[in-house]
Amino acid sequence: MEKQLTIIKNVKWADDLFNLTIDQTTGTIISIETAATDAEFASGGTNHKEANVFEAGGLHYVPPMADMHIHLDKHFLGEPWKTLQPFVTLPGQLEFEKRMLGELPTGAGERAKRLLDLMLSQGTAKIRTHVDVDPQIGLSHLEEILEVRELYRGRMDMEIVAFPQQGLLRSESAAVMRQALRAGADYVGGVDPAGLDRRVDASLEAMFELGAEFAAGIDLHLHDPDHLGTYTIDRFADLTERAGMSGRTAVSHAYCFGQVSEAEVRSLAEKLCANGVSIMTSAPIDRPMPPIKLLLEAGVAVHVGSDNILDSWSPFGNGDMLSRGSRLAEASGWVEDHWLLETYKLISNAPLTPKVGDRGDFSLVHALNAMHALAAAPPREAVFSGGELVGGRAFPTSRQMAEIHS
Ligand SMILES: [Zn+2]
Repeated sequence: MEKQLTIIKNVKWADDLFNLTIDQTTGTIISIETAATDAEFASGGTNHKEANVFEAGGLHYVPPMADMHIHLDKHFLGEPWKTLQPFVTLPGQLEFEKRMLGELPTGAGERAKRLLDLMLSQGTAKIRTHVDVDPQIGLSHLEEILEVRELYRGRMDMEIVAFPQQGLLRSESAAVMRQALRAGADYVGGVDPAGLDRRVDASLEAMFELGAEFAAGIDLHLHDPDHLGTYTIDRFADLTERAGMSGRTAVSHAYCFGQVSEAEVRSLAEKLCANGVSIMTSAPIDRPMPPIKLLLEAGVAVHVGSDNILDSWSPFGNGDMLSRGSRLAEASGWVEDHWLLETYKLISNAPLTPKVGDRGDFSLVHALNAMHALAAAPPREAVFSGGELVGGRAFPTSRQMAEIHS
């Protein structure tokens, strides 16, 4: 088969300039040469005459982003402006959200595509999305998101969590969770075993039963505060160990880590590390943030997600993971090069420099180096997915952003 090649010239990383050649039929990088060998391209000696050439002009390489906590089915992008109400109680907020989502004229799939296009155009190539299921809405959101996953296969790597937002026990959602996992959800979700389900152990055990039954990982939303939260995390780690699920369970948010003593966080962090439990944070700035540095130093795997983007909980957020990483680093006081570089590991699954055989997924920005790119989070000049230009200011008229925000 004839190869369709894209050559991106003069991309900067590690203080040098490189030319990348991407085979668009497979979406993978097939060669990386220092720009010093550019004379070969100019002479036409390497059969690249038919290639699409993009001149990067020294723009800096940014690896593909991973957004590990998002809700594709619950945002309002592309819908008329919604006036929100302040959060008072979780049950009250859940009722408000259910009403708002029920009134939307567009389905979950259509809205999911808007958010995916926005994320792709900003350089995100992997996501973990929580998708609401409960006895009232059944699998209506999930079925649409599963279809959308097929549409975006090859461009967006999607993990799907079946999420009993109304409370796994509280809303008697175990049966619909089983249907969701049978239908294709990858992870068992859960939320506030104390605050919402009112029975910590029973709620956690119900999650782990589902995980065992479907050989599925587990990702728990945990807003329960202080020692209520840390007790829940402690039990979650015990159950992960008992189920032999090291590396396949996660606690999202874990705000409680920002509300107890450092000594307690350190002790629990060691247990999380020993049992392979990850922490997913949205780098909150409206409440105490978990001490991410302490968790990382204890060896806990930490990932970052956007979580709220213009939804019934919050009007904030834009899906830009480089900005989210910058916010996390700034809020954590990370001014040293080492920590700026470490931040990439929280917002990306890929190394800071590409290699032959990788997918051609990356962004290009005006920056002096990788530290500067993280600190400044500049606009994307170009975003490539499998070697195809899909976003950034070089993208024709940047129409995706305009469409989504119009
Ligand atoms: Zn969430």
